[in-house]
Amino acid sequence: MISKISQGERRMWTTAMSSRSHSPSIMRLFYTVAIWMTFSPCTSGSSWTQEKLTHRAATLTQNEIKSVLPRTDLDRMWQTYLNPLLVTRYPGSAGSHAVQEQIKTTLSSLGAGWQVTEDKFMSQTPYGSLPFTNLIATLDSSAKRRLVLACHYDSKYYPPQWHGREFQGATDSAVPCAMMLELAQALDEVLKVYKSSSPDLTLQLIFFDGEEALFQWTSTDSLYGSRHLAQKMASTPHPAGATDTNELQSIDLFVLLDLIGAPNPTFGNRFPSTMKWLSRLQNIEKRLHSMNQLVDHPNSVQYFWPNHPVGQVQDDHIPFLKRGVRILHLIPSPFPSVWHTFDDNEQNLDRSTIQNLNKILQIFVLEYLSARPAVPSDPPSTV
Ligand SMILES: [Zn+2]
Repeated sequence: MISKISQGERRMWTTAMSSRSHSPSIMRLFYTVAIWMTFSPCTSGSSWTQEKLTHRAATLTQNEIKSVLPRTDLDRMWQTYLNPLLVTRYPGSAGSHAVQEQIKTTLSSLGAGWQVTEDKFMSQTPYGSLPFTNLIATLDSSAKRRLVLACHYDSKYYPPQWHGREFQGATDSAVPCAMMLELAQALDEVLKVYKSSSPDLTLQLIFFDGEEALFQWTSTDSLYGSRHLAQKMASTPHPAGATDTNELQSIDLFVLLDLIGAPNPTFGNRFPSTMKWLSRLQNIEKRLHSMNQLVDHPNSVQYFWPNHPVGQVQDDHIPFLKRGVRILHLIPSPFPSVWHTFDDNEQNLDRSTIQNLNKILQIFVLEYLSARPAVPSDPPSTV
C-alpha cells in the first residue's frame, strides 16, 4: 500500500500556538472582564479550535483500568470482526460491499448510538472509473471536537493471473479496522455514559476506501478515499451552521492505524508536534505492563518509542496533514516482513501483540476523552 518517501522529504510540522496579550488598561474592571472573556468557555468565534493544542488527558486509576479491560475480548474480535474482513476487498468488489455492510451493521447496533455516514464517489483509476465508499462513524456529531481513529478497509488489488492464493491484507489493514470495531464494542457502555454528559469532545472512526494504488503508487493512483474525504471535510461547516470553521478543524488528533498485527512492532516518532501523544502511549504501555495486563511482553517498553525519530511514509494521513491536521501515525517501522506479499494472512498474525495493542489503544482513547469507566463500589483498598 505505501510508498516510502525519502528522509529528505521529511516534513517538519510545527504548529504555532497563538499567544494572547492584553494592553494595559486604567480600568482594572475592564481588564478583568477582558481576561474573563478570553478564557470563558462561552467565548464565541473559533477559539475552540485551539483547545487541541493545550488538551490534557486524564490518567485512569488502576481500578478504573482493571474494571474496563476485561471487556475487550480477542476471540470475539477475531471471529466477529476480523474474519469477515479477511477477504478480497478492493474498491467496487463484492468483498468490499460485504465489509462495508459489516462495519455499518456493527457500529449501528451498539448502544452508544453512533451516527454512521457514507462518503460515496466515483473516481478514475488505471482500470477505468470505479466506485469508492468511505465510512465515518461519529459518537456525537454535535460535539465540536473529535478524536479521530482511522484505518483503510480496502485490500490491494492483484490481477487474477497472479492468483493461486487470495491476498488477505491481514495487517494491511484488516487488523487495524477490526481493532477499531473491537474498541467500539468493548468501550460501548463507557462511551454511552460519556456521551450522555454532552462533552465538547467526542470520538470519530473513519474507515477509508481506496488507500492502495490499483496499479502503481502515484499521486493520483493512491489515497482515493482520504483525498476525497479531506477535501469534503474542509468544505463542510462544523458545528452545523458555522461560518468560519469546518469539519477538518474539528479534528483534535488524527490517529492512523496501519500495518498492525505482525509480531514485535515498534512505533517511532514521525511528527514532533504530536510526540506528546506517542509518549502517552508509551506511558500506558508501561503502566499496563506493571499491572501484568500485557502478554508476551517481557520489557516495560516494547512498542512505543517517542524518542526514536523515523521518516514519514505516504498513507491516508497525507491529505489531512497537508491541510494542517495534527497526526499520530501508528505504523510500525520497519514494516512487517509480509508487507504486500501473499503471506500477509491470518496465519502470520500475532495474537498477543494484537491483544496488547487493543488494550493500550482503548486506554489511550478513554484517557484522551477523559471518559472514566465506572468502578464497582467496593471499599477502597488500603495502600
Ligand atoms: Zn498496502
